[in-house]
Amino acid sequence: MIRTRFAPSPTGYMHIGNLRTALYEYFIAKHGGGSFILRIEDTDRERYVDGAVDIIYKTLEIAGIKHDEGPDVGGNYGPYIQSERKNDYMKYALELVEKGEAYYCFCTKERLDSLRAEGDVGVKYDRHCLSLTKEEIENNLKNNVPFVIRQKIRPGKTTFRDEVYGEVTVDNEDMEDQILIKSDGLPTYNFANVIDDHLMNITHVIRGNEYLSSTPKYNLLYEAFGWDIPTYIHVAPVMKDAHNKLSKRNGDASFQDLIEKGYLPQAIVNYITLLGWSPSENKEIFTMEELIECFDVKGISKSPAIFDPEKLKWMNGEYIKMLSPEEFFRMSEPVLEKSIKTPGVDLRSVSDMVKTRINTVYDIPELVDFIDELPEYDKSLYRHKKMKTNEENSLDFLRLIIPVLEKTPDWDNDSLYSAMVNTAKENGLKNGQILWPVRTALSGKPATPCGASEICVLLGRDETLARLKKGIEVLGGNEIG
Ligand code: GLU
Repeated sequence: MIRTRFAPSPTGYMHIGNLRTALYEYFIAKHGGGSFILRIEDTDRERYVDGAVDIIYKTLEIAGIKHDEGPDVGGNYGPYIQSERKNDYMKYALELVEKGEAYYCFCTKERLDSLRAEGDVGVKYDRHCLSLTKEEIENNLKNNVPFVIRQKIRPGKTTFRDEVYGEVTVDNEDMEDQILIKSDGLPTYNFANVIDDHLMNITHVIRGNEYLSSTPKYNLLYEAFGWDIPTYIHVAPVMKDAHNKLSKRNGDASFQDLIEKGYLPQAIVNYITLLGWSPSENKEIFTMEELIECFDVKGISKSPAIFDPEKLKWMNGEYIKMLSPEEFFRMSEPVLEKSIKTPGVDLRSVSDMVKTRINTVYDIPELVDFIDELPEYDKSLYRHKKMKTNEENSLDFLRLIIPVLEKTPDWDNDSLYSAMVNTAKENGLKNGQILWPVRTALSGKPATPCGASEICVLLGRDETLARLKKGIEVLGGNEIG
């Protein structure tokens, strides 16, 4: 059975690239009817950030990713936490020491620093402690001399297969005898990762391609223990542009930022899944279920993908269109309440009007700002080629329609619309020759989320008539009041 894991380090925000890795891990597990596991890799206490585990948890929840197992936390599955599994790692490290695949290193920080400064052995450890005698080691241990445990890299070459990058071969010469257990007794990420992936029966390791070069070291560990090596799927990073990775630290949006900017979780999930993965069918909008259904490792790209905020905006707009009017009103209402202070405006109907015209709810204020206050506008707005209107005839058309609207008994959309088109017909005009000047006078904008009669309803009779008269003034007529 396929088992994948998401193994984030709690170092702060959830990067878009990390979330994408979690999604791929989730899709691969679920596509194969397997399990998805969450493991917090927190053994590097220096990089630990308080609250980061909550961010990871929340992000996965909002993105709709549920892990399948873990320690019991109040009736729910918690994540596996590496720092709480300390003893296991030491046991395995000692097994490697026993097997001659790892060794105690008592070198002080000063000695290691001086090695680096000399530069004669590069940044690689010089294996000084590999030649310690049994007695020296036992003495040091007895005297509680601080130690680390290092992996003894065997000579030769290591080759492995990655599902995305194909066959990768690394000369073992290029690898350092990396630390497996630090002087605080905690494992390094590099060691804990291997032990846990084995103990948790992880079959497919999906992670960023920055780990491609460390993978041979992990494989040497698997071999030293005689364990099965998992299937590797390394993925290229998500980029901001051709040269820089997308990163919160460089001011780019995290998942949480995007949510706060009004993006729908499902739109973000859909968009970032397509960054670096191409479906076999020519389609862009996918539900979570569809992604599980059609996700295929073959579609993962070797090359980095560039995050395009405009494409995400477009996709979010598509998701907003798919919401029911009720769902959308729940989202738009707080923004509408802030944007429209005029009493009596039916926010629900404004919500319906803007739904198909925005990419995020924060596009709404600009669309509806004319409701509270008619903006200053230029009379050239009345000029419309297709509607056959200009500054001169619009003045006549407004003068024609004002008394009709004043007399319209029912101030509702149907009555107002009929009144306007009937007036046009009776006077041998095109509908637009009445509707366009009315819309312009009422909004002062070249585009509105609704037509002339709908704006009349939104504004109410008094405000409508006042704005139409103001229109006459703008067009050089003198009626006002
Ligand atoms: N803790 C590592 C990280 O956050 C995980 C790498 C892996 O998935 O193996 O980058």
